[in-house]
Amino acid sequence: MSKIILTGDRPTGRLHIGHYVGSLRRRVELQNSGEYDKTYIMIADAQALTDNIDDPEKVRQNVIEVALDYLACGLDPAKSTLFIQSQISELCELTFYYMDLVTVSRLQRNPTVKNEIQLRNFEASIPVGFFTYPISQAADITFCKATTVPVGEDQLPMIEQTKEIVHKFNSIYAPDDPVLVDPQALIPEDDACKRLPGTDGKAKMSKSLGNCIYLADTADEVRTKVMSMYTDPLHLQVSDPGHLEGNTVFTYLEAFAKDEHFERYLPEYANLDELKAHYTKGGLGDVKVKKLLNNILQEELEPIRNRRAEFAKDIPEIYNILKKGSETAREAAGQTLSEVKRAMKIDYFEDMELIKAQSEKYSK
Ligand code: ATP
Ligand code: MG
Repeated sequence: MSKIILTGDRPTGRLHIGHYVGSLRRRVELQNSGEYDKTYIMIADAQALTDNIDDPEKVRQNVIEVALDYLACGLDPAKSTLFIQSQISELCELTFYYMDLVTVSRLQRNPTVKNEIQLRNFEASIPVGFFTYPISQAADITFCKATTVPVGEDQLPMIEQTKEIVHKFNSIYAPDDPVLVDPQALIPEDDACKRLPGTDGKAKMSKSLGNCIYLADTADEVRTKVMSMYTDPLHLQVSDPGHLEGNTVFTYLEAFAKDEHFERYLPEYANLDELKAHYTKGGLGDVKVKKLLNNILQEELEPIRNRRAEFAKDIPEIYNILKKGSETAREAAGQTLSEVKRAMKIDYFEDMELIKAQSEKYSK
């Protein structure tokens, strides 16, 4: 069986270091590993519209921002298909058919949707499109028969929902010859990367919460954000013992620091464990730790920022890449949709057996 990657992001803002450690960094490694037959990367504009109905311009503007972030991080259109969700109308058809396989109460139980409804203050006025987006996400994952979906931890309930749809579809419509492929989520092994917190210490760095370090931030912006980050409210004096739990600066170090960084920037410590030990014992100030984090982030982000600026010199070419990618994705979606329709017995004009049988019935 082919090994196929599908993943994506909502164009609700530029991408941030949470996206980077949660999914983007991994995607680039997988793309370059040569182990996958195809890689599809989707800009989920239609999904972004489900909770940004009154701000289509925001979504429109951010499509190119996300595409630039992709290219800057090393996603390569020669190896990966970069495409825009709304351009693949087959996804709507798949979603419509998958809706028959999911109950309202199942959607209501989805913890990510519950959480997001709360976050957006939707309460009783949830748009139906938003409520049902886990179903449309199943269409996104299955249209290309994805086997592997590299995502952050918050997406696990979505993959679970997709798996249920795949199993139900295959068992009802294609029991002998499965049409849809069961996808596996690939979440980061490191806890810090599964759900990177915001610079304000909130549970998740998120475009919608304004607590992000963006991949495109300037060196000064990164420094300012790092230096004002949330640490340990009980660590008032340098000599006080510090706490690591909920200390965002240390969480970011978990996600980014390697031993070689200590050699370069803080040679009195061999690695992060030694730094942590000193911090918890007392005698290590937040400023020193923040300066280390700043150095590490600058080192990681500078090449990304520079590549982004290079790609931004030819914006028409970026649209061209997305257009070509969308055409490729559409071909795959068309193929899967026709298999789905055949399995569901709604392929009337292609089914010669059906036409023959009906004619025989009426010629008797
Ligand atoms: P929005 O607030 O509009 O939902 P978002 O910042 O949550 O935006 P998405 O486009 O929903 O970003 O998510 C894209 C991918 O990045 C998903 O795989 C998601 O799991 C991952 N991701 C997003 N935020 C984080 C984070 N803070 N830590 C790790 N992974 C993340
Ligand atoms: Mg999100």
